[in-house]
Amino acid sequence: MRYLSTRDDSGAARLGFTDILLAGLASDGGLYLPESYPQITASLLAQWRRVLDEEGYAGLAYAVCTLFVDDIPADDLKEICKRAYNSDTFSDPQIVPVTELNDGLWICHLSEGPTAAFKDLAMQLLGELFEYQLHRVGAELNILGATSGDTGSAAEHAMVGRTGIRVFMLTPAGRMTPFQQAQMFSLDDPHVINIAVSGVFDDCQDLVKTVAADAEFKQRYHLGAVNSINWARLMAQIVYYIAAWLRVTTADDQRVSFTVPTGNFGNICAGHIARQMGLPIDQLVLATNENNVLDEFFRTGIYRVRSSAETHATSSPSMDISKASNFERFIFDLLGRDAGRVRELFAEQLPQQGFFDLSDTPEFATITERYGFVSGSSTHSDRVATIRQLWTEHNLLIDPHTADGVKVAGEFTHPDVPMIVTETALPVKFSETIVEAIGVEPERPARFTGIEELPRHVIDLPNDAAALKALIAQRVDG
Ligand SMILES: *Cc1c(COP(=O)(O)O)cnc(C)c1O
Repeated sequence: MRYLSTRDDSGAARLGFTDILLAGLASDGGLYLPESYPQITASLLAQWRRVLDEEGYAGLAYAVCTLFVDDIPADDLKEICKRAYNSDTFSDPQIVPVTELNDGLWICHLSEGPTAAFKDLAMQLLGELFEYQLHRVGAELNILGATSGDTGSAAEHAMVGRTGIRVFMLTPAGRMTPFQQAQMFSLDDPHVINIAVSGVFDDCQDLVKTVAADAEFKQRYHLGAVNSINWARLMAQIVYYIAAWLRVTTADDQRVSFTVPTGNFGNICAGHIARQMGLPIDQLVLATNENNVLDEFFRTGIYRVRSSAETHATSSPSMDISKASNFERFIFDLLGRDAGRVRELFAEQLPQQGFFDLSDTPEFATITERYGFVSGSSTHSDRVATIRQLWTEHNLLIDPHTADGVKVAGEFTHPDVPMIVTETALPVKFSETIVEAIGVEPERPARFTGIEELPRHVIDLPNDAAALKALIAQRVDG
């Protein structure tokens, strides 16, 4: 399997999986994708049904990853998957269990990992793959990132204790929930460096960009990232679409639909790829909150990014995005993999005019028919009402992001097609909205008992790139 960039139409050197594993953007600014999607047949699905049964989620993950990875020996890849997905790390032995609510509405639980958000599923595999590859080439990596919540926490819990890896994670001081702070700051490891910056999330992100833009510093200190555009994260996410499909269906050609609460188009991009591979998916329902950049695109054909000032702070904060960093991958497929057109849209029109318009194209006219995409959005009062409704009618408590999904899913259900909503976080992380909806605090899973009381490991830093560089140098040079 070779990988290409969404902006490369030269047919130039294509790369292997481990060549792109540690990379972010391609050098031309595009995103990596497989040269072609491996195809899933009904007989392969029948075989995977047995694999999931006999070898569990890790066995299925291995079977799927072998389709995309041909430069890691099979036995090693199998062990990597086993270490990533097991019941020491995930609170449910099924890793990704499903529950049926009623009339064909299902919840696929993606939040059983160490930080109670779906990002753990990709990050745990990434941690294993990074450690393996760094060891193999005798290198080390210092991950530098900024987070307003879920991503940084999932990254730290996936990278902690790994040889050759340090994490420097910037957070806006005092702006995360106490629970989110505790999840990160309670980690007690000299290679996990939590940094509270006096500023907002955008300041943190700017600091990361400034430091990473210093090529000499970046190289000298082996700086890297774990952002949501990493191909291996998408690959890991394809697995749970297949697992959910296997758990909900009984026949090997049965169609299901998925509804996905969306921010950066990462989670649902994996669903799109699974569908392109031939997994029998009917609709892919994209759900946004008030930040409806993507809903707008699927309704109108116009993709108009927002400024930070136009980005609302909502009660489903992990979906508060102004531009969707994985969206270019879907547009590449939509436009028949025409890298020249993708480059024109994303490298020229978008930066110059702030939007692009595909409304009059034949590709947009058939977007639902060919790709299954439909979309909708929700508001704070929708989320609160949905949380309350599932609680009173089904005794199931969901988080505000999942509530965005359930609300929008309701607009697209069909009698004979199961609708699976991906649960992207546990309610315990968002207790304020839960209390507003049902009047009581969400139950706290045992693994999070008392985390706010643990000693905090965090360094305060001014909003200053020189100070950040000095800290990195001091920690790395020792
Ligand atoms: C990251 C996140 C999302 C959005 O996922 P994307 O892959 O960015 O679309 C939704 N819900 C939760 C809880 C998240 O952490």
